[in-house]
Amino acid sequence: MTDVHTNPERLWSRHMDMAEVGATPAGGSNRQALSDDDKAGRDLFIGWAERAGCSIELDGVGNLFARRPGTDPGAPPVVLGSHLDTQPTGGRFDGVYGVLSGLEVVEAINDHGVQTRAPVEVAVWTNEEGSRFAVSMMGSSVWAGVLPLDEVRAITDRSGISVGDELDRLGWAGTAAFGKPLRAYLELHIEQGPILEASGSSIGVVTGVQGIRWFGVTIDGFPAHAGTTPMDHRHDPARPLAEVLNGLYEMAAAHAPLVRLTPAMFASEPVSPNTVPDQISFTIDMRHPDANALDDMEATLRSLVAGAAEAHDCGHRVEVINDCPPVVFDDECVKAVESAAQRCGFAHERIGSGAGHDACHVALKAPAGMIFVPCQDGLSHNEAESITPDAAGRGAEVLLHAALELAGTAS
Ligand SMILES: [Zn+2]
Repeated sequence: MTDVHTNPERLWSRHMDMAEVGATPAGGSNRQALSDDDKAGRDLFIGWAERAGCSIELDGVGNLFARRPGTDPGAPPVVLGSHLDTQPTGGRFDGVYGVLSGLEVVEAINDHGVQTRAPVEVAVWTNEEGSRFAVSMMGSSVWAGVLPLDEVRAITDRSGISVGDELDRLGWAGTAAFGKPLRAYLELHIEQGPILEASGSSIGVVTGVQGIRWFGVTIDGFPAHAGTTPMDHRHDPARPLAEVLNGLYEMAAAHAPLVRLTPAMFASEPVSPNTVPDQISFTIDMRHPDANALDDMEATLRSLVAGAAEAHDCGHRVEVINDCPPVVFDDECVKAVESAAQRCGFAHERIGSGAGHDACHVALKAPAGMIFVPCQDGLSHNEAESITPDAAGRGAEVLLHAALELAGTAS
């Protein structure tokens, strides 16, 4: 099947057409989830998919599946996809690239008169970005049973409009089953980081996604006058805060280079410059590909907070507010991507994903894998996000050949 190819010009021109929907003045895209622009982008995609002979299905949270039948109607499909929604100042490729490349695979199969044994479907997951409705990878989390549909329908945006309201208004609350059996799921995505560009590889064979754990930390002090209270008479939560941060950065250095540690959202109460704070709270975003390392780091965080707070007569609380375990992608999918890159003659390397993707949720239910292509300066979630037409073409070609291997071909 090495004589089957994608059409890079068609793939590129569709990106440019899609970028017209919700175009921003700085050359990016603004198609926030479940907005009129998100619908216009999907409608453009549906038109192309239907002209390519696909049938369209929606599930209850608006995830869309465009299906090209295989020769074995009972075979579970190979699904290729990503998302069409964007950040408010998003780029032209994040998510869009995986969806339009999935469609390009269908078109290439059509162009070359190939019959696949398993059906091939292109998935468009609802609200991957989580910027308007603040839960990212929302559609795939409902599909995989991570979040219940009624809980997700009740989530509101800043103006009080709910996910459920918008799904009903747009006619996106469909009836397709959640979590149906899949032969495999492949998501092609821009890397959103600098590794492939630096190493000169055209293709990243993604082996997994690092785990993410978020903590809310609160240190309780005792409010007192900043001018009259001697330093040794205070219960000042800023003192343990300083020790905890120092300790955490030392811990991060000990777990280098795979760890990511981000303390943020510092807030003190009361909001006053001349009162010793009653309370200081902050968040910690901790990431690592190894669950044991995350456990070790959580234990260190808890003992640092407890030790420093007690040493300065302060109270303390550490809560886990988000926990996404590391994902290890399916070996067969990883190898299918790797051998497709090999057959295509593209420089490739194995790589872990620093960001979460819909594939993390799909991997809970089905064999899943991902393919990365380099993006300029590793930039993403930015209107200047950019990939070259050649890079886009190479990724789609690997997606095609990996999909054909997994779907099987009937001669
Ligand atoms: Zn994305």
